[in-house]
Amino acid sequence: MKILKAEFIKSGTRPPDWPKHFLPEVAFGGRSNVGKSSLINSLVNRKKLVKVSGTPGHTQLINFFNVNDKLCLVDLPGYGYAKAPLVEKEQWGHMIEGYLFGRKQLRAMVVIMDLRRGIEEDDMMLVKAAPELKIQPILVFTKADKFSRAQRKKRCGEIAKEMGEDPDKMLLYSSKDHMGREELWGRITQLCNLDEE
Ligand code: GDP
Repeated sequence: MKILKAEFIKSGTRPPDWPKHFLPEVAFGGRSNVGKSSLINSLVNRKKLVKVSGTPGHTQLINFFNVNDKLCLVDLPGYGYAKAPLVEKEQWGHMIEGYLFGRKQLRAMVVIMDLRRGIEEDDMMLVKAAPELKIQPILVFTKADKFSRAQRKKRCGEIAKEMGEDPDKMLLYSSKDHMGREELWGRITQLCNLDEE
């Protein structure tokens, strides 16, 4: 994907805050600190479009980004931060659910996981919501650069087995060297019915 434009549109928590456009949207979800901001920056070839967080658990807004006036990337707040107060965790759940179930132009959801940790309970909740939302989850395992090629394959096989998934459906990513970038764009453009340019 050739990135001609990548711009922050706005942040919001509730439906009235969401942008009033008709662009297809792709949501990105993942645990705090999983590497979600880095992955979005890597996808759009920008170093700082999304702020890479030093302290996990502090981006509690949904952030919308326009790409090429064709597509909107939606950065959901990171979940699963153990130290977050319960009330914050609940707010997170409501915000995410409100967006996922209330947004008509949502076409795909990228669930980002750490290849070292594999899939965890919160991630599973997102994956399981997908059929009800009639969208396909794209399962992405990031920080793959921390493994050798052989280890990556082995780890991917282990996680696929645990999830009862086809390992070919799981995508390995590294924001350090953009591994998996073209493949992820391929899936996104396909699910959003966009031309892959
Ligand atoms: P977020 O909280 O999910 O948005 O995570 P960040 O993008 O802020 O990344 C959290 C930490 O993981 C940062 O220190 C990043 O430099 C690091 N990181 C993110 N992606 C990768 C990756 O693909 N490979 C490696 N080695 N480190 C990464």
